[in-house]
Amino acid sequence: MNDCIELRRDVIDTCRWLKAQGLVFSTWGNISVRLDDGNILITPSKVDYDSMTPEDLVVLAPDGRQLKGTRLSTSEREIHCGVMNKRPDIGAIIHMHSPYAMAAAARDEGIPVISEEMCQLLGGAIPISSEFVPSDMHVKLGEVVSNSITEANAILIRNHGPMCFGATLAEARVCCQVVEKTCKMYLHLLAAGGIVPIKDEYVARGRDYFLNSYGKS
Ligand SMILES: [Zn+2]
Repeated sequence: MNDCIELRRDVIDTCRWLKAQGLVFSTWGNISVRLDDGNILITPSKVDYDSMTPEDLVVLAPDGRQLKGTRLSTSEREIHCGVMNKRPDIGAIIHMHSPYAMAAAARDEGIPVISEEMCQLLGGAIPISSEFVPSDMHVKLGEVVSNSITEANAILIRNHGPMCFGATLAEARVCCQVVEKTCKMYLHLLAAGGIVPIKDEYVARGRDYFLNSYGKS
């Protein structure tokens, strides 16, 4: 996708949607989109979503250098760049501070595949980053998170919150909903006991069905 006013508005609309859904508050959370030229359009640091304008967004090179924009990019830019560089299939990333996923991120393990939605839309279990890194250690946080991602379309940043991925911004938005719902279900299941995850073969089958057959037969 090219850097254009419509895309920038779509990013801002998504920020406001996250806030309306209770998935972020204040200026927490951030969004990036991979552009056709390989650079990354990303939200700025500390700009309120209600007053954010298309000009506030920033363009970064894949190595994190700022190419366009007068604002400072989000302080979590290294995570976005690191994940984009590791996974060429990802076109958009949404980082939210949603309550159930943040609660799940305070545990010591990721989330097994417990629903068809996870198979098809996330493509597998949700991993958790390997160690806690304080948010002010931007570069190390980016390394640890990007080294902890799998082929699944989400990760829990340990003691922090989730990042949700998609080929498009629309897909990443759906992932946000699936991740928050999954974490809510999982935390309830932990209290109830007796979790039975879906077998790996069916996880792969579900993802393949969604990508190649869903809506076609
Ligand atoms: Zn954050």
